[in-house]
Amino acid sequence: MKREHREPSFQLRDPARARALADLLRRHAPPDPVRIVHVCGTHEMAIAQHGLRSLLPKEVEVLEGPGCPVCVTPTVDLDRAVKLAEGGAVVCTFGDMTRVPGTRVTLAEARAQGADVRVVLSASDAVDVARKNPGRDVVFFAVGFETTTPGTAAVLLDAPPPNFYVLASHKLIPPALEALMSVPPIRIAAFLAPGHVSTVIGAQAYRSVAERHHVPVVVAGFEPLDILYAIALVLRQLREGRAEVENAYPRAVDEQGNLRAQALLSQAFEPCDAVWRGIGTIPGSGMRIRDELGRWDAVQAFPIEAEEGEEKPTGCLCSEVLLARAVPTDCSLFRSSCTPLSPVGPCMVGSEGACNVWYRYGGRPNL
Ligand code: SF4
Repeated sequence: MKREHREPSFQLRDPARARALADLLRRHAPPDPVRIVHVCGTHEMAIAQHGLRSLLPKEVEVLEGPGCPVCVTPTVDLDRAVKLAEGGAVVCTFGDMTRVPGTRVTLAEARAQGADVRVVLSASDAVDVARKNPGRDVVFFAVGFETTTPGTAAVLLDAPPPNFYVLASHKLIPPALEALMSVPPIRIAAFLAPGHVSTVIGAQAYRSVAERHHVPVVVAGFEPLDILYAIALVLRQLREGRAEVENAYPRAVDEQGNLRAQALLSQAFEPCDAVWRGIGTIPGSGMRIRDELGRWDAVQAFPIEAEEGEEKPTGCLCSEVLLARAVPTDCSLFRSSCTPLSPVGPCMVGSEGACNVWYRYGGRPNL
């Protein structure tokens, strides 16, 4: 007799366990409304895709803050990349970055006008482009958080070819959490920390923000049960009046993080103040290429007068969304004049941007 083949249920998506966790969350709902902020487009996608907001008590609101690297890349850096491309360099970057509106044009529009702009999947792909085009200047426009910065550091430390340059616009997550806690008038009750960033920097990286601002920080993975469990830990901390760093993703994250990746980062970069689009300057939140590696730094190799960028398109609420003070549906342009095919602001461009995610999953706040 032919035996029926059944896939074992994936426990981290087990509906029965999710319902049990949702019951637990409801039983331990806080007496007053609380706002929990995550800073991760992957979290937002998991929350929307699996309808997790519909499982939360009505007192608990979960919002995405500045968790989309494309969304927070400032126009001054984007405009620099456009000028380098228009000036004859080959500019390599990630796909979403080519569609973000700059002061005048996007990188994709510059390409349509004849500039050489190429989409790559990694810094090492851009090095390959440089090796194959020894007669051209090749600039890697490097964006992203602690998850992507080690890849850029690795190529910088591996003697890249002389025609390769990095336009660095990397950002750090812990200073962003600090900055969010300083923004009035919204009171953030707790943070969910991004699991993938935390594999690099370790759970300990959030301790200072938790202690200084008396705010719980729970490291969360990306499966539905990971996120519900992390929210349960947040509610337990709030109920008990604690403000600690807890790791709800121990199968991937430990206290110290990836020490080899951290060593690469500190060999290639040093922290600096950085502008976050829609938010402004956050102290110590950027990564500047160290002077020893300055010959590969596009800012030093190609001094370009920065344009006074328009950070906020008219009517766009991206800055409020990035500060977790608004949700995409608060914006009157959402799904009308602003769509993924015709984005007005950066939060609709990046696949990790809150507006883009809400658009793709129906644009309903209680998804
Ligand atoms: S819907 Fe568009 S215009 Fe409105 S906040 Fe989002 S990106 Fe900006």
